[in-house]
Amino acid sequence: MVGSSSLIGRTISHYRIIEKLGSGGMGIVYKAEDVKLNRFVALKFLPDDVARDSQALSRFQREAKAASALNHANICTVYEIDEQNGQAFIVMEFLDGATLKHRIDGKPIETEVLIGLAIEIADALDAAHSEGIVHRDIKPANLFITKRGHAKILDFGLAKLQANAATDADAGLTQE
Ligand code: ATP
Ligand code: MG
Repeated sequence: MVGSSSLIGRTISHYRIIEKLGSGGMGIVYKAEDVKLNRFVALKFLPDDVARDSQALSRFQREAKAASALNHANICTVYEIDEQNGQAFIVMEFLDGATLKHRIDGKPIETEVLIGLAIEIADALDAAHSEGIVHRDIKPANLFITKRGHAKILDFGLAKLQANAATDADAGLTQE
């Protein structure tokens, strides 16, 4: 059953689940090893109750499609979306570090560091916007700071294609 620690140690598709990284409103994230490419990845599954909700399912798929259409150093790369036993999951770049929410918990960030991160985040959002993709849920929990001190935007979950974007066919996205 997805949504419990019973997934740890199991291999789903060609991903061996190693440990749980965290969970949010829309999913549980695990660290896994891609046994074909021998690299770590992050797998995001919907919690069981949400998986039965068709609206949540389409939000999940939208997140995968929107994020996979983007190619930017400061946006978490989506490798693929797959499904096993009716459970959809997103496979993405494994990030080492912590979310900004965790990073700022009770401790200020040096102004110079902060400006560097803000520039990276603004550049990533600019790239997304020029593809007609709006994140709509930018918050510290969705901004990851890697060990090397770079920002990565997570969760284009609420992403929505702007009506005037001419990227539908290219990105394989449908408008709401
Ligand atoms: P919300 O549902 O509001 O977006 P959230 O952002 O806390 O909440 P998730 O996006 O599901 O929840 O992420 C849960 C946690 O998993 C994150 O806080 C982060 O620590 C971790 N995480 C997510 N994606 C990755 C990744 N690609 N690499 C490493 N850790 C990740
Ligand atoms: Mg999130």
